[in-house]
Amino acid sequence: MIVAIDGPAGAGKSTVARELARRRGFQLVDTGAMYRAVAYEAAKAGVDLQNPEAVAEVAESLDFEFSFVDGENVIYCNGRPLHDEIRIAKVSRNASIVSAHPKVRTVLVEQQRRVGRERPSVLEGRDIGTVVFPDADLKVFITAAPEVRAQRRVEQMSEQGQEADYQRVLDEIVERDRRDRKREIAPLRLADDGVQIDTSNLGIEEVIAEIEELLEDKD
Ligand code: C5P
Repeated sequence: MIVAIDGPAGAGKSTVARELARRRGFQLVDTGAMYRAVAYEAAKAGVDLQNPEAVAEVAESLDFEFSFVDGENVIYCNGRPLHDEIRIAKVSRNASIVSAHPKVRTVLVEQQRRVGRERPSVLEGRDIGTVVFPDADLKVFITAAPEVRAQRRVEQMSEQGQEADYQRVLDEIVERDRRDRKREIAPLRLADDGVQIDTSNLGIEEVIAEIEELLEDKD
């Protein structure tokens, strides 16, 4: 069983995917965390992020696993857990840059298919329903207005004690979306047979209920 959850940053995709995986006892493959890990490891190794060959080489050297620890989905990169270090703004930007290299995508998509096939899985990303698992059992595209996404992000940051400027956050979201939607390879888009859910005016429980209903039709 493969559930594909795609959509732009800040639409609530991660919360929905985590909650769904937890309730169903599925593995959660956070593919964004994989692109972040590649960006993080490449920068750490002093690799030029604009050099596709060099970044793809870094991606090839990494092996990924996922596991829930105390309700948190943890990514393991060559056996080592990665946490907040891959969530900072700089890594978000760098992940978006490295993810535009076709070679890097090929390497990571292969790993995503391998990990996803191991057990029933929820895969969360941008191209799961269109590229990674085009025959997924269910494809959901989670979206929300950019202003709503920026506001949520600002609230999340201030909860974590980080300073947040709404306009700057909004600009970053719009810019990252543009890059993700316009890129030539695996652009962010709704799969032809995907179901779109706009979370601008919906709570997490309502979104989960909608997906659970769709899943029950498949069981
Ligand atoms: O979802 P998250 O914000 O962690 O993803 C970080 C970046 O990785 C995205 O901005 C996007 O550029 C890239 N990404 C991707 N394809 C995926 C998942 C993430 O290109 N399946």
